Amino acid sequence: MLCPFCGIENDKVIETRAADDGRSIRRRRECLSCGKRYTTYEKVEMPPVQITKRDGTKQPFNRDKIRSGLIKAFNKRDITEDQMERIVSDVEYMVYNKMYQDSKSGAGYEIYSDDIGKFIMQSIKKVDEVAYIRFVSVSRSFENIDQFLQELNELKRERDGQ
Ligand SMILES: [Zn+2]
Repeated sequence: MLCPFCGIENDKVIETRAADDGRSIRRRRECLSCGKRYTTYEKVEMPPVQITKRDGTKQPFNRDKIRSGLIKAFNKRDITEDQMERIVSDVEYMVYNKMYQDSKSGAGYEIYSDDIGKFIMQSIKKVDEVAYIRFVSVSRSFENIDQFLQELNELKRERDGQ
């Protein structure tokens, strides 16, 4: 790895450990030329996935789009950059896991934009109920207030474990 300080490629790894619950590897490195230390991360490169939209057209799965949806839902809520990144990577893993499970059946797989919406909802719900309701109200167009209240009640029941 090229040293970011002196620009010479002559380093050794002084520590390696799993980060992000095993989704990445963090390495502490020391430059043998200038003696400075720096950190690198190694993670799986996800192959591109096509998402089928409601009108049947396809578009590539895009982390940035998920992130911007989250930024809206979590506006003025208490969330760190790490938690946000964690939700995006949760969603990404759910997408790849669904592809894997579906393809095991031999019938191939298809990921719909509705699946992505569901995965995002599941991940947000674990972190922040208010952000969850915001996200749901934008992505699922409620026809009336009763539908909205029903969603709230379900959320409450789940939380209270009834
Ligand atoms: Zn150096």
